[in-house]
Amino acid sequence: MEVEVLCFFPFLRKSSDYIKEIGVSLDDLIYSAAFERARDRGCERVISAIKTGEVSSHHVLAKDVDMEILSYPFARILVSCIGDTHLARRYARAEAKTAYKILSASIADETLLHALAEDLGVTVLCGGTSHTSCDGVVGAAKLDFGVRMYRIHFTDYLRLASELRGSKWRLVNRMLHEGFVMVSGNDLLQLFHEAFYDRVRENLPIEVPGDICDAVRKYTDEIRQVLSVNTREDRSIACDGISQSAFPPCISYLLKRLMGGEEISHSARFALTSFLLNIGMRTEDIIRLYEKAPDFDAEKTRYQIEHIAGSRGTKYTAPSCRTMRTYGICVRENDELCEKVAHPLGYYALAKEKEKSEKRRNM
Ligand code: SF4
Repeated sequence: MEVEVLCFFPFLRKSSDYIKEIGVSLDDLIYSAAFERARDRGCERVISAIKTGEVSSHHVLAKDVDMEILSYPFARILVSCIGDTHLARRYARAEAKTAYKILSASIADETLLHALAEDLGVTVLCGGTSHTSCDGVVGAAKLDFGVRMYRIHFTDYLRLASELRGSKWRLVNRMLHEGFVMVSGNDLLQLFHEAFYDRVRENLPIEVPGDICDAVRKYTDEIRQVLSVNTREDRSIACDGISQSAFPPCISYLLKRLMGGEEISHSARFALTSFLLNIGMRTEDIIRLYEKAPDFDAEKTRYQIEHIAGSRGTKYTAPSCRTMRTYGICVRENDELCEKVAHPLGYYALAKEKEKSEKRRNM
């Protein structure tokens, strides 16, 4: 794999091998003026992950290749010194998403695909059976990547598909052939996304000695500041007529997890979306909330929200407290309003009423 390609996939083992080859030590990376650009770029990686959910990528000139590759271990050091697992997850998702986009754009390159698979320890073979090639049936016209067939070893499949939602990812719904699972090119891309995430998330946060964290404090302070502003902004919903402070505990909890870049289950998404639609939030505003989700896809999200909103005839009501309990997402503790209601919408109406009368009293 060419060294320029490692800039796009700096989490590969080959990238660490390259750093060893060029002889840069940890001390060089942390303290030497010669590596200031790598440190700045490392900080930029983390800030961009927080702000946009992706790592800003740009054309890397040949003379900057080393700095770009070195910026990745430096970014890991920064995330580790901050020691926030939320941030670690968010950063890993951003690196994975960026690499996924790059791979999607250069997917015709089978050599790259196989080099990545080898580095990530994933066994991928071309073709739906041993008689077909990556491009489709041997001798046939070249197929689009999305519909080409691949075979991935079932152990790798189980590992990588474990966090993917949807029945199509269940092994029972897949064709198996001699220990390999058949996947389309598009599915393979998704599985690579998971493999990228796992690799970046591996051991993160790592243990970093205190003197190193002290030496990089100017960067970690900057990141902490960005993190606190973004977390504050993320968790507030600025929509006319909607009072976030009146949300029931279950909805606040789901919102907090979503804004923190965490995966939330299908039923949790349904509960959150239907609740927000029922209290009058617009589709566009709800889509914006989902932008922080690790697997965000604007079109899919819009479709799902519009579906719940009734675009296909049935408008869904938010689930009751009883259903929320069966979903395992009722988080009432000693909340006095939770004692009085049977529905999160009932909670919201009561809490809003309470807020209004308190306001009137204070006028
Ligand atoms: S009791 Fe109802 S409103 Fe309260 S947290 Fe549980 S599901 Fe939400």
